[in-house]
Amino acid sequence: MRFSRLPKSIRKDILRAYIIITFILRLSRVQEIFSLCMPFRYNIFSKMENKKRQGHMKSKVYFLPLDRLGEFDKAVSGTGIFDRFEKGDRVALKLHFGSMGHDNTIPAGYISGIISVLLQKGCFPFLTDTNVLYRDDRDATLTHLEVASKNGYDRLGTPIVIAGGDNSDNSVSIKGKSKYYDEFHIAREYTEVEGMIALTHFKGHGLACIGGTIKNLGMGCASRKGKFAMHANITPDIKKKKCIGCGLCVKKCPAHAISLVKKTASINQAKCIGCAQCVHTCPHGVIGIPWFSVTPQEFQEKIAEYANCARNLFGKKFFAVNFLVNITSLCDCETNPGKKIAPDMGVLFSCDPVAIDRACVDMVTAAQGPDIPAGEEKFSRTRPGSHPHFQLDHAEKTGLGRNDYEIINL
Ligand code: SF4
Ligand code: SF4
Repeated sequence: MRFSRLPKSIRKDILRAYIIITFILRLSRVQEIFSLCMPFRYNIFSKMENKKRQGHMKSKVYFLPLDRLGEFDKAVSGTGIFDRFEKGDRVALKLHFGSMGHDNTIPAGYISGIISVLLQKGCFPFLTDTNVLYRDDRDATLTHLEVASKNGYDRLGTPIVIAGGDNSDNSVSIKGKSKYYDEFHIAREYTEVEGMIALTHFKGHGLACIGGTIKNLGMGCASRKGKFAMHANITPDIKKKKCIGCGLCVKKCPAHAISLVKKTASINQAKCIGCAQCVHTCPHGVIGIPWFSVTPQEFQEKIAEYANCARNLFGKKFFAVNFLVNITSLCDCETNPGKKIAPDMGVLFSCDPVAIDRACVDMVTAAQGPDIPAGEEKFSRTRPGSHPHFQLDHAEKTGLGRNDYEIINL
């Protein structure tokens, strides 16, 4: 039957239905087009969001010049930086106690102001570091405490804790997915306290390029196993010609990975768990760290990931202090950290480990050094292929902080 011959009322109904169906189909097409645009919209919005965050969330870095360090309490009182700590909080003052051979570390007197503010708030501050991976005065608790004492830290009247135990194996494994790790090994004490203030003498570093807050947190809070996991991709090195076959390392290896082959120690790579105990066990220094099994970039990125894990333990109860004094191209752990590469400047505070280290690199770059002129980056010359950006950029990617900062002069 033809449409025109249908009764008028039915034609009207059919036309109405046609209009409604067409409208619905068009609407669904619009929705389809709209939905096709969604990822694009999402990209636009996330970029806008990032820009917004970049615009509004520059990290604050406070700067106190050295000649005003005596006014510490007054200078920091307005920043609110200590408000994050409460009465009863145990606060780890994480530092590097320096060396027996020279005085290149944070002068003990510089941190007394921080301790006194914490004590006034009813907190329990303590000075702390972990035993180191390599053979040194700071690789065992008693000799480490001697270093702290020699550099005047015992005179502050604050408890000193060498975290992770004498063997640096008292640690907690923390799960976390990152570029290099799915598990981090952190000295147990740092997982048990409420807060941390990272006190760092900012300087260069032979392997990490810069020794700032990121390194103080990343390498400094790790147990020996964690430190080894940052330093090496392979098992410890054995200098076979020096081995006298005493078998001590065989007895002490917790994974039964070492055996004597023709009276010489040999590591079974499949069994080794990378705890680095053998490095300390061998009385003849035969077993060592394969220092160059990681590239400078890998090493710095690994430190950044460990720093992020350590930092996350403290939530809001964290801030960092970098001391820009005695700035050398090598670390305080070296027998000779070398001569100064920039003048003494002052003290920086921030809740952002990336921003504070970035600010220090920028200030040293801007300064006129005895050998390197103002405007030239001064740390990357120590080890070919290294650059502060490796550490700082990867740290930002992990979520540790931001490279974008503003300096607030106190
Ligand atoms: S690193 Fe640990 S597990 Fe590996 S050989 Fe040495 S002591 Fe054994
Ligand atoms: S402890 Fe040292 S010297 Fe003794 S077997 Fe092991 S590597 Fe060789």
